[in-house]
Amino acid sequence: MPVTPRGNYSRRRVLVTGGAGFLGSHLIDRLLDRGDEVLCVDNLFTGTKANLDHLANEPRFEFMRHDVSFPLYVEVDEIWNLACPASPIHYQHDPVQTTKTSVHGAINMLGLAKRLDCRIFQASTSEVYGDPAVHPQPESYWGNVNPIGVRSCYDEGKRCAETLFFDYHRQHGLDIKVARIFNTYGPRMNAGDGRVVSNFIVQALQNESITIYGEGEQTRSFCYVDDLLDGFLALMDTERGFTGPVNIGTPREFTIRQLAEMVIEKVGSKSQLIFEPLPPDDPLQRKPDISLAREKLSWEPSIPLEDGLDKTIAYFKGIVGKS
Ligand code: NAD
Ligand code: UDP
Ligand code: UDP
Repeated sequence: MPVTPRGNYSRRRVLVTGGAGFLGSHLIDRLLDRGDEVLCVDNLFTGTKANLDHLANEPRFEFMRHDVSFPLYVEVDEIWNLACPASPIHYQHDPVQTTKTSVHGAINMLGLAKRLDCRIFQASTSEVYGDPAVHPQPESYWGNVNPIGVRSCYDEGKRCAETLFFDYHRQHGLDIKVARIFNTYGPRMNAGDGRVVSNFIVQALQNESITIYGEGEQTRSFCYVDDLLDGFLALMDTERGFTGPVNIGTPREFTIRQLAEMVIEKVGSKSQLIFEPLPPDDPLQRKPDISLAREKLSWEPSIPLEDGLDKTIAYFKGIVGKS
């Protein structure tokens, strides 16, 4: 009997590293929705297969357990590089591995993109701006990062990954897209990873004290995950010569204390605020200048924090107390 290939060779096969995590799992849903085949590569350090359970019967989805700091030989048409622990407690747990994930991971994924001559996206971060002296932060700002502090493994790892992306672009002509992601929240955030939105919601739902670090006067600008993904997809669809980096985030700034008060009110919680020491090198303020994203991607976020929090609280209500 003749051998008939079973794959659909006209379909795009897309690699998502870090796909078992918060952002990666939402990205995979969007890529499958648009008809792609998706290969998810993740070492499950901070991600979980539970984020992908709903894809168990999806024939266009494959999962591979693998650490991106080691070489990876697969055949794909597009690469989204998101693998990296993103919350301070996780990236500081094994800081050397964090730097390896960003730097060796970038080299391996860029080597893969070079061999396949395919487009590659990098999930960079607003942390490349460090504790910014310029506010809001445009992409042209070079940042204020402590190279030897406890956050440096993440910040400098991501900065070096950006360097590698731009050097592979200049030296080897690679088709790169670099997004600088600002604080993002939504369903499937890891309840135990210590990020402020998940911490406050879980504490409020359990009527436990809300832990404000410092006085709570530091600011962040929170982007809902669906908005962020619209920005990712728009960036990946830009013409070949456009590399970024592009800020993707929400230019609406809140103090951490305002966030705590909003969460308490929305949950209807009896939680009290308690004040704990500010972690070292914690940025005082952060807000993206998104002029470039508006101009090049015709993108801006549309989901207000009030609405995004409702959806996120509904998600956490479904999981708190069940694990
Ligand atoms: P996450 O921790 O939920 O997801 C990261 C995923 O990467 C996890 O599934 C984890 O298991 C995997 N991973 C970690 N190290 C790996 C390795 N060596 N090999 C293979 N897989 C590995 O975090 P997230 O919020 O989804 O973040 C995704 C990406 O976006 C990260 O690169 C992060 O730096 C970036 N980012 C996120 C935010 C945010 O607010 N969520 C902000 C800025 C940048
Ligand atoms: N690499 C990979 N998959 C590939 C091609 C390369 O993981 O399909 C890794 C490999 O570890 C290599 C790195 O990417 O060391 C960088 O590749 P590049 O071709 O830039 O450099 P070289 O092979 O010369 O080190
Ligand atoms: N934060 C806080 N209480 C918490 C967790 C975080 O006050 O329980 C503060 C933290 O010190 C920082 C801000 O909230 O100023 C955002 O923290 P997160 O870890 O979510 O993100 P990042 O610092 O990486 O922006």
